[in-house]
Amino acid sequence: MNSKEFRKNGKNVIDWIADYYERIENFSVMSRAKVNDIRKNLPNNPPINGEPFESIMQDLEDKILPGITHWQSPNFYGFFPANSSSPAILGELLSSGFGINGMIWASSPSCTELETHMMDWLVNMLDLPKHFHSSFGGGGVIQDSASSATLCALLAAREKATNGASNIKGVKKDLVIYCSTQSHSSIEKAVKIAGIGAENLRHINVNHSFAMKVDDLEKNIKYDINQGKIPAFVFATSGTTSSTAFDPLIGIGELCIKYNIWLHVDAAMAGTAALCEEFRWINEGLENADSYCFNPHKWMLTNFDCDAFFIKNPKTLTDSLSIQPEYLKTNLNGSDTVIDYRDWQIPLGRRFRALKLWFVIRYYGIKGLKAHVRKGVKLSQIFQKLVQDDNRFELMAPSPLNLVCFRIKGSDEINELLLNHLNMAGDMFITHTRLNGKYTLRFCVGNPLTKRYHVESSWEKIVKAANKFI
Ligand code: PLP
Repeated sequence: MNSKEFRKNGKNVIDWIADYYERIENFSVMSRAKVNDIRKNLPNNPPINGEPFESIMQDLEDKILPGITHWQSPNFYGFFPANSSSPAILGELLSSGFGINGMIWASSPSCTELETHMMDWLVNMLDLPKHFHSSFGGGGVIQDSASSATLCALLAAREKATNGASNIKGVKKDLVIYCSTQSHSSIEKAVKIAGIGAENLRHINVNHSFAMKVDDLEKNIKYDINQGKIPAFVFATSGTTSSTAFDPLIGIGELCIKYNIWLHVDAAMAGTAALCEEFRWINEGLENADSYCFNPHKWMLTNFDCDAFFIKNPKTLTDSLSIQPEYLKTNLNGSDTVIDYRDWQIPLGRRFRALKLWFVIRYYGIKGLKAHVRKGVKLSQIFQKLVQDDNRFELMAPSPLNLVCFRIKGSDEINELLLNHLNMAGDMFITHTRLNGKYTLRFCVGNPLTKRYHVESSWEKIVKAANKFI
């Protein structure tokens, strides 16, 4: 594709994306595709000769679009918001345009230095503890996901607990990891990948608000110590996936200090809320965290993927992950002068993700980002009130931010029927969880296109559909 064609096709693609957002409400929010519907329309073999760009775009429209669930629809309330925004899309496009690999500082200094700078900006914007700021000995890195951040934190904690000897034969490594019964499944995956063994992951009980019970945590730690095991890592959550519960970081942090345990805090969705002063309470207790992560790709207008991972003592991480093959040696590796982010993550290669974050933060400014968070919280409060005012429904958990957990007072079956009916109708998309053993509907607000009338008319549709089942 020469540059003339690239200009023409590129402009058409941008137009296509702009049109997509303008017509997004015309589509069923949840894709109605059935299994194999997409593949059956694709040729078995790739083309021998290149095809015109226009035919590829036509097939995008005809063959791919039907299998898209419209996460950016204003009526998408499932899972969690996966914010996209025009500045992030354009930043991402430019990153593709550069086509660089930022594995080490020398492979593109801007990639590393902009990333370090954005992470420091985030520390200031969210009022995170200073120990995560690069000027205070800490550091931030962009990971693809909160799951990767958790795994990296766990690997660093594993080395700390074994004095860097976890891969040495004969070294005692009966490590124990703690999370709550409400923690995200990524911790279990990380424990398995890190070779710690699923049997060494303790799921601590939660209280009536689904937050970890500190006394139960201590009981488990003491028991494990008595068994000769090494408590190594506590995975606490600020804003659980099921219900946005907040584990009590102050109490958990005190225990981590007392027993010399690494504290990692996962605030995948909720972390963005700390942009606003009134939600800064979510950071209480973070000063005792060794590592922390949240996803700008959830609620901070930054396209997937972008997880911001902070670590108090980056050396613990680089000591765990750094390997120095000849072909990557430069006269700057290992010096204090530069950061080689390949040593802060699992893969070697890395994308220039900081660029989209830079575009987002500069385009919206702190004020614009705060307004986005406040709108999500306000709309979820409106929805919560609508649920509360209808005595055929019940709220299943406190709703401190942008997620409302609710159900019809009745059997699991009718709630599941309601959810399936709503999603199949295509006007909205919601997902479910199980709280106190009951099938629970989750209504999560945070999409930039969602307005008050979307939330109110979605509630009307929920009530209308529920009338069929109650
Ligand atoms: N932690 C929490 C609390 C989450 O809600 C999620 C996503 O649902 C994750 C972790 C995993 O996020 P990621 O897809 O970035 O790994």
